[in-house]
Amino acid sequence: MTPPSTRKPDWLRAKLPNGPAYQATRRLVEENKLHTVCQSAQCPNIGECWSRGTATVMILGNICTRSCNFCAIQTGRPTEFDLGEPARVADAVAKMGLRHCVITSVARDDLKDGGASVWAATIRATKYKNPQCAIEVLVPDFKGHLDQVDTVLDAKPDIFNHNVETVERLQRPVRVQARYDRSRSVLRHAKSRGFVTKTGIMLGLGETQDEIAQTLRDIASDKTDILTLGQYLQPTPQHWKIDRWAPPEEFAHWKKFALEAGLGVVESGPMVRSSYHADEQSQKYTGVEHLNTTNLLANV
Ligand code: SF4
Repeated sequence: MTPPSTRKPDWLRAKLPNGPAYQATRRLVEENKLHTVCQSAQCPNIGECWSRGTATVMILGNICTRSCNFCAIQTGRPTEFDLGEPARVADAVAKMGLRHCVITSVARDDLKDGGASVWAATIRATKYKNPQCAIEVLVPDFKGHLDQVDTVLDAKPDIFNHNVETVERLQRPVRVQARYDRSRSVLRHAKSRGFVTKTGIMLGLGETQDEIAQTLRDIASDKTDILTLGQYLQPTPQHWKIDRWAPPEEFAHWKKFALEAGLGVVESGPMVRSSYHADEQSQKYTGVEHLNTTNLLANV
């Protein structure tokens, strides 16, 4: 085990935000008044992803009703319910020329349907305007209400992603209002309806090696297709403390383990986040080729 220190190991050094494609992505996000999880979650990959012309759009506002101890997104009472948002997301995806887009949201436990209807409207608007684009959704657990999950699924996203985030023992302290079995039931439900499913966990929260192995076996037994594993980074001193820096060799070990357990695609590495290189992870299922930034630079 590598003991944590305040200094990040070299393998976690990220590319600095810069360049014309990065600036074009930033302008597009601002002009379309979009929220992105890249900014709200202080993602270290923003320089690389935005320079590739990709961003993960976050719908339903930027204030979350949940207070997960690992997450940088602001917690509070959301005020946003913006009926123009689905069209703006669809427009931004078109201007970026994306062939694979990732959409996520804050948890909206304050809304009767958990925000499922806005989710469905966003997927439909984006598909209508971008028929060639594969749509990956990274959704909250909708408190386990499968009718709300069905509202999202009925809009036919190409990839259905819901992160279990960590091992079973650490769910309560780290995810607070979420539950391991509930997240798994949401994933199993999407799978039972024939969708390509995806989930992710972070290492470095205090989990043991046995617990990681069990989690990967659980995820495989749910017939999940795609898995991401990445290093947890503490967003502020008030958040859950980093227990350790998992080295690249450990990520390679778990990738092999998960593939042998039955996962179809595993993206595993210190810098991996669930939307990191999402187009490449899902190419096997969507058949969509990698993106390029030509359209983005031409359209902005
Ligand atoms: S990994 Fe995901 S959240 Fe992070 S910058 Fe890339 S697209 Fe945004």
